[in-house]
Amino acid sequence: MSSFDGMWADLAPVGRNPETGGYRRYAWTGADATLREWFAGEAGRRGLDLTTDRAGNLWAWTADPDAAGPGLVMGSHLDSVPDGGAFDGPLGVVSAFAALDVLRDSGGTLRRPVGVACFADEEGARFGIACAGSRLLTGVLDADRARGLTDEDGTTLAEAMTRAGVDPGALGRDDETLRRIGTFVELHVEQGRALVDVPGDRGAVGVAEAIWPHGRWRLDLRGRADHAGTTRLADREDPMLALAAAIREARAAADRHRALATVGKLRIRPNGVNAIPSEVTAWLDARGPAEDDVRAVVAEVGAAADTVPAEESWTPSTAFEPALRNRLAALLAGPDGRPAPVLPTGAGHDAGILAAAGIPTAMLFVRNPTGVSHSPAEHAEPADCRAGVAALARVVEELAC
Ligand SMILES: [Zn+2]
Repeated sequence: MSSFDGMWADLAPVGRNPETGGYRRYAWTGADATLREWFAGEAGRRGLDLTTDRAGNLWAWTADPDAAGPGLVMGSHLDSVPDGGAFDGPLGVVSAFAALDVLRDSGGTLRRPVGVACFADEEGARFGIACAGSRLLTGVLDADRARGLTDEDGTTLAEAMTRAGVDPGALGRDDETLRRIGTFVELHVEQGRALVDVPGDRGAVGVAEAIWPHGRWRLDLRGRADHAGTTRLADREDPMLALAAAIREARAAADRHRALATVGKLRIRPNGVNAIPSEVTAWLDARGPAEDDVRAVVAEVGAAADTVPAEESWTPSTAFEPALRNRLAALLAGPDGRPAPVLPTGAGHDAGILAAAGIPTAMLFVRNPTGVSHSPAEHAEPADCRAGVAALARVVEELAC
């Protein structure tokens, strides 16, 4: 069994929902603690130095980045969306450790420190802010705001971190950690179908061009609770009608503005079959190639529901460093000498947060045969996963040997 296969098998049962086959690996839960212990174990097995930064992100280093750095860092995240797939996040962390193993087995010598990172709370599934760990690290997420974020049960992030044994009082931009990162490379399963159309082996691994601007908004729709059987239609204040208008407009406005918009999360009160709701909260995710178009979609959805969407997070367009991107695309050229495919993505990543903070950053995507992601059906073929590990190993050779 290769080191990749062994690690993959170890992670397979953690946080798995047997009913759907998907994963529920939310930040600062028991499943998350198991994943963090696994990471520490893999670091220890390889003799890497494990550190935790002020945001609770984990770092495993081959050598002291303060003395011999800054270093090359690979990695991704281990948390998931509700009933997410096995690949989004873990593929990047497992491939990073496996790439170090390839290098060790080939006798490669590192001339600079190499780190493997595991970012905390990338998906934002529990506290609503995606890439919370990297946003806290770089200071774009305010520490006080973060500490006060609550989950569905009213538990604050501060309480959840404390229970997980990480001090929320330490949250804040972490310059000491940032200084250690000379270059960051995140390998990730592709979350679309761009590589499927690239013929042959050349489509196994691609290089990211840019991350689309994207954000999350909350729609607070108020009505009046009443009886479904006794209240005349004319007398109703039913926020579900505004919700319906918002959902239809999200689709129509996204279509008009060549963007994407999704209403994927709702909270309905009191949520009874025979009760007109008093309150509906809906969350809108919008993204697209152009910021103006994304903003227009959000405004038009708000107008359709007669409300002003509250912005919960916003990430501007993030281009990865062109020189590094082109260097890696050339490095990972196919046998015919053509560079690896370069593709944009609509998904946010910790790599985008680090790139926006001025760190030279690149991403590699591993082909996903259906393009499906954030679902138990998310997949990458074993041969493509091996190609991803080999690509990362070549990146380490290129940038750190
Ligand atoms: Zn991810």
